[in-house]
Amino acid sequence: MKDSYKQKGLRKKLVLELFKKGIRNEKVLNAINIIPRHLFLHKDFENFAYIDKPFPIGEDQTISQPYTVAFQTEKLEIKSGDKILEIGSGSGYQTSILVSLNADVYSIERIYNLFKSSKKILSSINLMPKKIIWGDGYLGLVEEAPFDKILIAAACNEIPIRLLRQLKIGGKMIIPIGNQKKQIMNLITRISKNKIKKMELGNFLFVPMLKDKI
Ligand code: SAH
Repeated sequence: MKDSYKQKGLRKKLVLELFKKGIRNEKVLNAINIIPRHLFLHKDFENFAYIDKPFPIGEDQTISQPYTVAFQTEKLEIKSGDKILEIGSGSGYQTSILVSLNADVYSIERIYNLFKSSKKILSSINLMPKKIIWGDGYLGLVEEAPFDKILIAAACNEIPIRLLRQLKIGGKMIIPIGNQKKQIMNLITRISKNKIKKMELGNFLFVPMLKDKI
């Protein structure tokens, strides 16, 4: 991987910062430690890659804050071989973390240019998901359902029912629900065909899910 000592050092600091903020899952912290986040940003902005902040990636979108990526990943309790649907590949950074945990990842991105660029980076660092698709995340991926876990990386007004239907019984979905200004992270467990359990996990800020047709 294209990486320098300086970047490795900055990443170690970031891992420590995430630990202090409450991330405890060793596999997740290790993934943050090994994935070169700077490659997911434009070269001019590389120096911002290991600050715990979101950052613009063009098309009015942002790469998620490392804490948020670690938090969503930790709460899903990813196991090797889990089949995961990710909505909103964005830069591809979150995707790479899930792939590095040996999950079978299916990722959907709505904006063509981001779909293209994330695919290129993921392939260059050998962390390609099973599938990365240009499409509308609200539709999910019926032909690959059911999924063990669903990770939604953009804000929704409510739980998208179509996606819930694509979750295994016993499966978990992590999703920020709210309006443009404020969202609450929800961890949903599908406990039976028609029953879910909801846990609220605090405030976060995401870009909104795009609703218009492609
Ligand atoms: N986790 C990503 C960033 C996600 S930002 C990262 O680490 O880089 C949210 C992403 O969701 C954006 O790229 C946006 O284009 C995408 N998105 C918004 N609406 C969508 C939809 N309906 N379907 C799929 N992707 C969508």
